Amino acid sequence: MKHFQRHPIAKYTTLKVGGYADNFYIPNDREELTELIQSFGSHQFLLLGNGSNIFIKSKRIKKPVLMTNKSLKDVDIDATTGKLRVGAGVDIRKMIADCLRVGLRAPVELLTIPATVGGAVYMNAGRTSMNSSISDNLIEVEVFDGKHFTTLSRKECTFSHRYSVFHRRPQTTILSATFQYDRIPSDVIQSLKRTSIEAAKDKDYRNLASAGSVFKKCDYQLMQSLRGTGFRRTGFARNTPNCIVNYGDAYAWQISALLAYAYVSHRLRGKQAILEWQVW
Ligand SMILES: Cc1cc2nc3c(=O)[nH]c(=O)nc-3n(C[C@H](O)[C@H](O)[C@H](O)COP(=O)(O)OP(=O)(O)OC[C@H]3O[C@@H](n4cnc5c(N)ncnc54)[C@H](O)[C@@H]3O)c2cc1C
Repeated sequence: MKHFQRHPIAKYTTLKVGGYADNFYIPNDREELTELIQSFGSHQFLLLGNGSNIFIKSKRIKKPVLMTNKSLKDVDIDATTGKLRVGAGVDIRKMIADCLRVGLRAPVELLTIPATVGGAVYMNAGRTSMNSSISDNLIEVEVFDGKHFTTLSRKECTFSHRYSVFHRRPQTTILSATFQYDRIPSDVIQSLKRTSIEAAKDKDYRNLASAGSVFKKCDYQLMQSLRGTGFRRTGFARNTPNCIVNYGDAYAWQISALLAYAYVSHRLRGKQAILEWQVW
């Protein structure tokens, strides 16, 4: 296992902003990860997947940070039943590719989301425009609470829009998720795949540092009007509403200021904005 102290961690996030972690761990496998979590006892820690939904606002993170995407890498597929069990550290784009290889109707709609399975389940990642989310075909989630290994059914995960029960259980680690997909002819799935990628093609934030949608609930027109505003180093994306991009070397305080501006703008118009990002 790798262990770094006073380690800058902005580079492990897609937004590329933020300070350092007092202790940063990269376990090599599931055993190392669970033993480490066990050793923390009741002390809190933070889990990092691909860091694509995280804004690191703090200069210093005192809680230990554990990166999952080097451990929890197993993918077990039964092509006959269409059932697959995927480690939480697996990139969902790899999971989708593995499914396609054996003719399963993978969620190709989610191919544009740079998530690990753990991060995707935690966030119930999805694409509203394509009517698809990671929880659609989920059967169960295997978790570790520091003492016990248990399994939660889809119902127990209480998924809703970009939400799961894990938001209320910060000390619960998702170890793996089990999904079930139907078989599908390869020409049909290839066409769905093209549609999925095409729909996201023109979004400017895909070529810049960002953390995807900022708010899971907001006033769309208001967010449209904020496009292109901000600082030289960071601002609201020019052609994608509800997205903040880092043009390079943005400061965390600048991003906090953009968030505050969006919140105040909503409040002044009597509208509600609910953050999708996880802020550390
Ligand atoms: C270019 C771009 C496009 C995006 N498009 C979309 C989109 O279309 N739809 C969408 O929903 N999102 C989108 N996002 C946001 C983001 O990709 C998703 O929220 C994704 O699910 C986050 O996964 P992650 O592995 O990066 O998790 P992280 O960002 O690393 O973590 C997110 C949260 O999950 C927790 N977590 C991670 N792993 C575990 C685990 N094993 N156990 C328990 N908790 C865990 C973390 O502690 C954190 O609270 C986009 C982001 C970018 C940068």
